[in-house]
Amino acid sequence: MRVGIVSVFTDYHLRGRHSRGVLQPQVGPLIAGLLPEYVEIDLINDVWDEPDWQRDYDLLFISALHSDFDRARQLAHYWRVRGATTVFGGPVASTFPELCKPFFDAVAIGDPEGIVPRLFRDFCAGELEPFYVSGPYDPTLVPAPRLDLVQQKLPVPLALELTRGCPFSCEFCSLTAVGTRYHTRSTASVVRDIEAARRALVQRGLRYKQHFGVFFDNNIGGSFAYLRELCDALEPLNLRWGSSITFNGASNPDVVRRLSAAGCRFLYVGLESFNAHALADMNKQHNLADRVQEMIELCMTHGILIAGGLMLSPGVDDCEYIDSIPARLKESGLFVPEYVCFETPFPGTPHFARMARRDPPALFPDVLLRDLTSYTLVVKPRFATPEAFVASYRRLVDTVYSPRMQLAKLAHDVPRLLKGGWALTAVADVVNRLWVRQPNPAWRTYLPGKDPAPPERVPLTEADFRSDEQRAHVLEPWRVTDAHGKVLPMWLSGRPTFLEKGQRVRRMPATASSTMALA
Ligand code: SF4
Repeated sequence: MRVGIVSVFTDYHLRGRHSRGVLQPQVGPLIAGLLPEYVEIDLINDVWDEPDWQRDYDLLFISALHSDFDRARQLAHYWRVRGATTVFGGPVASTFPELCKPFFDAVAIGDPEGIVPRLFRDFCAGELEPFYVSGPYDPTLVPAPRLDLVQQKLPVPLALELTRGCPFSCEFCSLTAVGTRYHTRSTASVVRDIEAARRALVQRGLRYKQHFGVFFDNNIGGSFAYLRELCDALEPLNLRWGSSITFNGASNPDVVRRLSAAGCRFLYVGLESFNAHALADMNKQHNLADRVQEMIELCMTHGILIAGGLMLSPGVDDCEYIDSIPARLKESGLFVPEYVCFETPFPGTPHFARMARRDPPALFPDVLLRDLTSYTLVVKPRFATPEAFVASYRRLVDTVYSPRMQLAKLAHDVPRLLKGGWALTAVADVVNRLWVRQPNPAWRTYLPGKDPAPPERVPLTEADFRSDEQRAHVLEPWRVTDAHGKVLPMWLSGRPTFLEKGQRVRRMPATASSTMALA
């Protein structure tokens, strides 16, 4: 029995090659941890490497973001015609299960812990159902992820998820689309997973990696009470680690002090904007645009490097604001963000629903699903022409990722960090400067339908299709808007999976079955 678990390739910058980003999909090791030990498992990180197209699978789990749903469908078809049974999961599956179903043998809705063991049993018994719905998050079902199966291609070794979800409801966020909730698990199970990961690394001769980790939580500070408990449990482990946290956590002196004592040296904060109107429009009022410098300063004093991403909001920002961002970045001490992208309405989110209601249409005509990478402008700018908005964006990217800005950041941070005794944080800063890049090639228009299609291809041939209709069904890119910019009706049916802060799961398609009683 061979099972494959594919995290589908996301080529944000249309480079046509796989990449070695630090942020790695966590769902593969998690699903593997939910399968019996006797099963042969391939973790296929499509972001890193092309899959082995010669390999056969009995069962294939596939997860993808919106922009790569086209590739997910093609991957599923490729292996279905070669005998595999395919299962699709992730945010698109959870919000649009009926749309996904024709392309996969089963659709997984919600958390893998409540689905995978039963789905696997049904598959072995030849009784696979079309839809599987998880119950509410149950921390006792979370397994130790199979990090032993992950190819160790990065210096960052020990990657875990400690909490799930986020208590906030930013309008654009895909977590809001599946349902706002925040779940924690016992610190004992966290320590269990860290120790298991360390053992796996030592067994593989990677002893030096056991001292560094990344917690891929969306917001490790969703509950300050839990975070304090977690910090107490982490402190004796002598681990140096990084994670993500919201602005309110990174600007709370007590929280920052506890995090630092627990070994935290790097935090990602979704800053999104220096424009308070844009933050309000995103329903992200917990970010305070005028206190970014204070927050970065506080963390720096405790040896924690802050990384942050920025978005431009086409409906709120104007070119004057965009042109002011480099100066604001310098003033705040952030200098170089991890990325600068466009606020993008992902189907299923409240932001998408709001944009879809606009008349005249808010989105450009003929937007494709693959345009929803956040690096294509899909919403018409309100205060500038698309060309002027994109020109401002290009100037911004060129300025903030220039060697001058990178060096200014290091000159600002490194001496102070070393003086404060935070040598490791200084090293992390230097590594991050070398790592963070944002391509801005002259050929990119950043407009929907104008840039070439992503060059990655699934090697399907004519023999893989029964008819022209089937070929079109599998290969044609999915559209989001029509020729007038109107959102296609199929995208108006998205609904959250988790209700009442995740205590309840909504009823799913009529044939869906649940692992737990549905409300
Ligand atoms: S704070 Fe971050 S993770 Fe939480 S809802 Fe907002 S964007 Fe999503």
